[in-house]
Amino acid sequence: MNNQQPDLKLQLQDAIGARKALEQTYERQFQLLAQFVQRLSYLCKGIDLDLDNRLAKLRAELARSVDLEKLLPFIEETSQQIKLLEQRQQQEIRQVQSELTEAGRLLQKQRGLPDQLRRDLRQLLTKVEQPAATLQAFLPHLSNLTQLYQLALKAKQQLEQPDADEDRYSHICRQITLELTNLLSELSFAGKGAIEVEQIKGSLLGNLSVEALLDACLRTIGIIVRGINEERLSAEGFLLRLNDALTGVQQAVEATLLGSDKLAEKLLNLNQKIDAQIDHLGKQSQQAENLEQLKKLVIQRMNELTLSLQEKQLLEEQQRQQIQLTLATMETKVRELELEASSFRERLAEQTFRSLRDSLTEIPNRAAYDERLQLEFKRWQRFGSPLCIVLADVDHFKNINDNYGHSAGDKTLKIIAKTLQQSIRQTDFIARYGGEEFVILLPDSKLQDLLEPLNALREKIKQIPFKFKNKRVPITISFGVTELKTGDTLQLAFERADEALYQAKKAGRDRVATR
Ligand code: GH3
Ligand code: MG
Ligand code: MG
Repeated sequence: MNNQQPDLKLQLQDAIGARKALEQTYERQFQLLAQFVQRLSYLCKGIDLDLDNRLAKLRAELARSVDLEKLLPFIEETSQQIKLLEQRQQQEIRQVQSELTEAGRLLQKQRGLPDQLRRDLRQLLTKVEQPAATLQAFLPHLSNLTQLYQLALKAKQQLEQPDADEDRYSHICRQITLELTNLLSELSFAGKGAIEVEQIKGSLLGNLSVEALLDACLRTIGIIVRGINEERLSAEGFLLRLNDALTGVQQAVEATLLGSDKLAEKLLNLNQKIDAQIDHLGKQSQQAENLEQLKKLVIQRMNELTLSLQEKQLLEEQQRQQIQLTLATMETKVRELELEASSFRERLAEQTFRSLRDSLTEIPNRAAYDERLQLEFKRWQRFGSPLCIVLADVDHFKNINDNYGHSAGDKTLKIIAKTLQQSIRQTDFIARYGGEEFVILLPDSKLQDLLEPLNALREKIKQIPFKFKNKRVPITISFGVTELKTGDTLQLAFERADEALYQAKKAGRDRVATR
C-alpha cells in the first residue's frame, strides 16, 4: 500500500496538470482562430463599401471577445453580404446586357446596313447575350460608343437622302474619327486587345467612310465586351472563392464547437468515473480486514484507475489534434485567398491605371479625380473628418509655350506634375485637372494645417532648375485652397477653391490663397 499511494497521487496530479495545459492550449488556439477571421476580414477590405462596413463590425466584435459562438452570426452575416454583392453584380450585368441587346436589335432593324456590318452586329449580339458580362469601369466607354454609332447611322441615313449635304456628312465623319481616336487612347488593353486597338487607331488616320467608321465602332465594342468578360470572370471567381472560404471558416468553427462539446461530455463522464473509483477505493480500504486483502484491493483498483486515466489522456490528445487540424485547414484557405485577393487587386489597379491616367504627366486624369472626389465626399459625409480641395495653376504658362515651344511646355508640365505627386502624402490624391491645372484632394487635413506645407511646395516648384535656351527660367505656381464645410455641395466647395485661386492670381501669383 505504501508504495502504491504516492503513485496514485502522482497520476492524479498529472491528470490535473494535463487538464490545465489543455485549457491553455484551447485558449491559445481560440485566439489563433480569431486572428484568422480577423485577417480574412482585412483581406477583403476595399472590395465593396457595404462589405467593408460589415467586416469592420466583425473586427470590432473580434477585438471585444474570442468567444467563437458569438462570432458565428457575424461570419454568417458577412457570407450573406457577399452573396448579396454577387447578386447585385449579376443584376447590373443583366441590365447592361438587356440594354445592349435592345440597342443592337434597333440597329439590326436599320435598312441598308452593309453585309459585313450586319454580320459583325449579329456576332456582337451573340457575345452580349452570353451569360453575364460587365465591369462598371467600361460602361461609360460603351455608352460613348453607342452614341458614336448612332451618330454614324444618322450620317448614313442623311447620305441616303437625295439632297444629302456632303459638307455636313464629312464634318460628322471627321468628328466621329476624332472622338473614336480619343476613346481608343483611353482604352489600352493588354495582349490581343492591344494589337486590335492599335490597328483600329491606325485605320482612323485615313479619311474613312461612314461604313468604315461603323465598322471601327463595332470592332471597338467587341474588344470592350471581351475585356468586360475577362474582368467579370476574375471578379466573380474571387467573390465565389471568398464566399467559399468564409463558409469554410464557419463550418470549421461549428465543427470545432460541436466536436469539443462531444469530447467534453465524454471527459466529464470519465472524470465522474475516476471520482467514483477513488471513492470506492477509499470505502473498501476502510472495510479491508487484513493487509493482504487491502493490498490486493488497492492493486486491482489502481489498475482500473490507470486505465481510466490513460483513456482520459487519449481523449484530451484527440481533442487537441482535432482543433489543430481545423486550424491548419483554415490557415491554408486563408493563405490561398490572400494570394487570390492580391492578384485580384492588382488587376483592378491595372484597369484603373489604363483608363484613368493622364497620358502626358502619367498622374490620374480628370475622370479619376471625379471618381475619387465622390468617394472622399461620401467619406466626409459619413465620418465627418476634414477634407480639403486644392487647385494649382502654373503661373504665366502660356509664356513658356510662346517663348520656348510647346514641347518645352510639355516637359515642364511633366516635371511639375511629378514634383507635386512626390510631395503629397500617400492618402492624398492628385490629378491633372486640365491644361496646366492640377487638383489635390487632402482627406483628414484641416485648412490651417495646410498653409505651411503648401507654401513649402510652392517654394519647391520655384526652385526647380528649369533651363530653356541655356537660360535658367524659374517657374511659379499658385494655389487656391478650401475645406469642405457643413451644408457644402461638391460644386460649392470647388467654386470656393477656384475663387481662392483667382485671388492668388490677382494678388500677384506665386502664392497660396484660401477661402
Ligand atoms: P496664369 O498665370 O493666369 O494662369 O496664366 P497662364 O498663361 O498660365 O494661363 P492661360 O490659361 O492663359 O494659359 C494656359 C496655357 O497652357 C495655354 C495652353 O496653351 C497651355 N497648355 C494647356 N495644356 C497644355 C499642354 O498639354 N501642353 C502645353 N505645352 N501647353 C498646354
Ligand atoms: Mg489655367
Ligand atoms: Mg496658368
